[in-house]
Amino acid sequence: MGVRITGRTQLAGIIGWPVEQSLSPAMHNAAYRAMDVDLVYIPLPVADEAALCRVISAIRVLPFVGFNVTMPYKQAMLDYCDEVAMLAQMAGAVNTVHCVDGRLIGYNTDGRGLVDSLASELGFDVTGRTVVVVGAGGAAGSALVSLVLGKAGRVVILNRTPGNAEMLADRVRPHARETSVETAQLDDDVGGVVREADLVINATSLGMRPEDPPPVPSAWLHRGQVIADMIYRAEPTALVAAARAVGATAVDGLGMLVAQGATALEIWCEEAGGSAPRDVMRQAAEEALASQAGRARGESE
Ligand code: NAP
Repeated sequence: MGVRITGRTQLAGIIGWPVEQSLSPAMHNAAYRAMDVDLVYIPLPVADEAALCRVISAIRVLPFVGFNVTMPYKQAMLDYCDEVAMLAQMAGAVNTVHCVDGRLIGYNTDGRGLVDSLASELGFDVTGRTVVVVGAGGAAGSALVSLVLGKAGRVVILNRTPGNAEMLADRVRPHARETSVETAQLDDDVGGVVREADLVINATSLGMRPEDPPPVPSAWLHRGQVIADMIYRAEPTALVAAARAVGATAVDGLGMLVAQGATALEIWCEEAGGSAPRDVMRQAAEEALASQAGRARGESE
């Protein structure tokens, strides 16, 4: 069934650069068809910040219910919103914007997506757990906030640039009453910290290219741990493969993508009530990923 467009169709979309590989249009449009809402989700490729400013002005006067924001604009989007939810302020990044009467309200659904997907895919509850977050960018920030809200016992942020980890920890610590938030540099000395963790999260961009190594050596991973890579590919990422090889439980970022998208949809359609059809969204995302991988194989032959 194709996308239905009427004189009253409203818009949603994804701003980023590049966005042609995004699975969100397939995932959201499948959900809108299943929900029978008069809404269409489009890619919004935005090359630079000057273009971002013009696109945001246009969105304010077009019939947008909201939009997602991906790399490299999640941090910049904070300044374009008229209001930013506390969680997104703490995370230091906005991935979902709700358009309400020309006003832009910023949210961050990434961290909740991660925690929800760990619960639904693995039955893993972060409460009281020791967690290592590798990376200190926007995705790491949203994960940290959700871990603090979920009352994780101890979170250690490991990052290539220690100053970025410290800035993130300083922002979130005042809200972390039941979670100890620590930082360390991602180097050869932190094997012990990673081995002690119940949950290890990759929130770096390492893994996006097929040739990327895992962000931590497989010798630091073991059976009994849960490893969550925010990155997803048609084939297992190097981290997921390394974790499974040592008997750890590993998930990639596809479940997180679906869960963050479902939460965004529920924010945009809150007046209609109901919940987003996560199974439909997951299936559409898997099909879009498989067909991208098929096209890439065809192009390389
Ligand atoms: P970001 O703000 O650019 O942060 C990137 C992080 O990766 C920084 O901490 C950076 O460290 C680290 N990094 C980059 N290259 C590295 C390398 N070669 N070795 C070690 N660390 C490196 O990006 P982001 O928005 O947080 O996104 C991070 C990843 O999460 C991306 O791959 C993104 O696709 C993924 N993500 C997935 C979902 C999902 O739904 N599955 C949602 C959000 C994000 P420095 O501070 O030292 O530069």
